[in-house]
Amino acid sequence: MGAQLKNSKLKAPVPPRWRQEVERILITDAQLARRVKSLAREIEKDFLGREMVVVSLLSGTVMFLADLIRHLNLPMRMDFMGVSSYGLGTESGDLVFTKELRLDVKGRDVLLVDDILDTGKTMTRVLAKLQLLEPRRIKTCVLLDKPAHRQFDIEADFVGFEIPDFFVVGYGLDFAERYRNLPFVGVLHPHVYKEAIKRVL
Ligand code: 5GP
Ligand code: MG
Repeated sequence: MGAQLKNSKLKAPVPPRWRQEVERILITDAQLARRVKSLAREIEKDFLGREMVVVSLLSGTVMFLADLIRHLNLPMRMDFMGVSSYGLGTESGDLVFTKELRLDVKGRDVLLVDDILDTGKTMTRVLAKLQLLEPRRIKTCVLLDKPAHRQFDIEADFVGFEIPDFFVVGYGLDFAERYRNLPFVGVLHPHVYKEAIKRVL
């Protein structure tokens, strides 16, 4: 299970540059750094020095992946799969594969990494696709878990943080491809969605 977010009385202030758009910080950069490091220790223990193929889903995992793998003291190869489920909105839509895996994972130990487990649709579809390639085993790792929203019977083996049912951005996660560069995980002001929707209608 992922780390629970403590209800800290000391709320981290949103940096002035983002205050118009970001309502609050849910997970600070320091909390992320600490948890990602301990997650790497958990994964190392599970893989017992065996070489892994890290399969990471684009593009939301970029920051998490970069931080996670530098703490993984194991032999590894890395590849990406492109999966897109969101257009502009914040609701899970149909899945499109935009980049296929290139490394051969047959007989290998795979670590599948995603940014967030929400309904579980993405993980379920990707796992089914990976299983066809006959890896030795697949372990799953997500930075965030939103159990409140689950529609598929799936849990990740390694979870950074369990979070409430908010739409979050930052640390790689986007809203309409923006906000991936925020160093923290935050919640957007509702007016941001409303304005974005107005622009396309
Ligand atoms: P699922 O298929 O489990 O419903 O959703 C997984 C995918 O939806 C994630 O890979 C992520 O891209 C996107 N997603 C789900 N919840 C959120 C969220 O709160 N914020 C952002 N930015 N993306 C989300
Ligand atoms: Mg994603």
